[in-house]
Amino acid sequence: MRRMSNKVGIGIVGFGYMGNVHYEITRNRDDVDVIGIYDIDEQKRNHASEMGLGVYSNMNELLHDENIDLVIVATPNDKHAEICMEALKSKKNVLCEKPAVMNLAEMKAVIDCAKENGCLFTTHHNRRWDKDYLVVKKALNEKVIGNPTTIVSQTFGQRGICFGWRAIPENGGGMLYDWGIHLIDQMLTLFPDNKVTGVYCRLRNILTPEVDDYFELELEFDNEIVSHISVGTFALQDTPRWFVFGDEGTLRLDDFSGEVGGIRRMIHDENGLERIKSYKQKGGHLGPSRTMAPLAKENIEEIDLPMIEIKGNEFYDNLVKAIHGECTQIVTHEEMIRDFEIMDAAFNSAKTKSRMNVSI
Ligand code: NAD
Repeated sequence: MRRMSNKVGIGIVGFGYMGNVHYEITRNRDDVDVIGIYDIDEQKRNHASEMGLGVYSNMNELLHDENIDLVIVATPNDKHAEICMEALKSKKNVLCEKPAVMNLAEMKAVIDCAKENGCLFTTHHNRRWDKDYLVVKKALNEKVIGNPTTIVSQTFGQRGICFGWRAIPENGGGMLYDWGIHLIDQMLTLFPDNKVTGVYCRLRNILTPEVDDYFELELEFDNEIVSHISVGTFALQDTPRWFVFGDEGTLRLDDFSGEVGGIRRMIHDENGLERIKSYKQKGGHLGPSRTMAPLAKENIEEIDLPMIEIKGNEFYDNLVKAIHGECTQIVTHEEMIRDFEIMDAAFNSAKTKSRMNVSI
């Protein structure tokens, strides 16, 4: 019998790292209830049981529980489409982990299935609320560095290899699926009104034998802004998380905190360029010549990074309201489709070693 509550009842499918993260996010909310979990791994089910959670012995049981309004899918990537469709056909709303599916055709099929069954379907683009991303977004919106020309967004780990199912092609392993989808979604939502006209992608497996553990992706927008997105699992020196070139200044963010880095703008004055001195290194070797030499301090304005305050969890606040029909979902179907149009173009580009001319 259905419990008497207007809290959104949640069932989690896949109770590994991210399934537990969803449990942690939701356990202290007063508008949701985690009813139970299902995982194919008995150890994970036992662990959940020890935590005092409801545990289903198969997925059907979970899908037929009338107390469950929302199914959260947090399994390896290749299982997402099938589990989402089953849940939607059982008239459950679905939040699927990213990447929601493996390709554009699957994305369209799952969205159609959600519409046919009158259920909400969304994906966890939690990185739209990362502080570093919001700092870049705010700085660009406020034109602090003028018009952006090139945006570098990158992250590198030190582990060397992709691990577990992330190293297996059939499971949807590799960094383009894993981190690429986050960084692509961030880049596209910086420019929602501009089309991507060119996609070039290079996938490499440097230390992981079968999947990309390093990729470089270039997106060219119709406003001539170029973005370089790179991800790798093996870099033992630090690189900035973001580096944005503008026509009036430059922004650098060193890490995910959004608090380390800086914004510099040029202060133009009559003699500014005369103050630039090239300098020689010891032994008479040339250092940066005049074009590459730094500006004098008087000609640089240091600007504080925009302050970002993150209150609560906007993604979940929206999800719960959208399930109650009080608002529309914040991560839209159109955005999910656009992400996968880019993903498909990126894989095609890597396969054919060529630039894809697109209008996405
Ligand atoms: P994980 O390996 O830690 O957990 C996956 C769990 O799914 C395992 O417990 C496994 O036993 C279970 N499982 C596998 N097949 C299943 C099936 N058919 N039915 C039920 N359970 C099944 O992996 P993870 O790191 O938690 O990643 C899970 C998903 O979350 C992936 O899609 C990943 O890309 C995503 N993820 C998202 C973020 C984010 O920031 N949004 C971060 C990490 C992972």
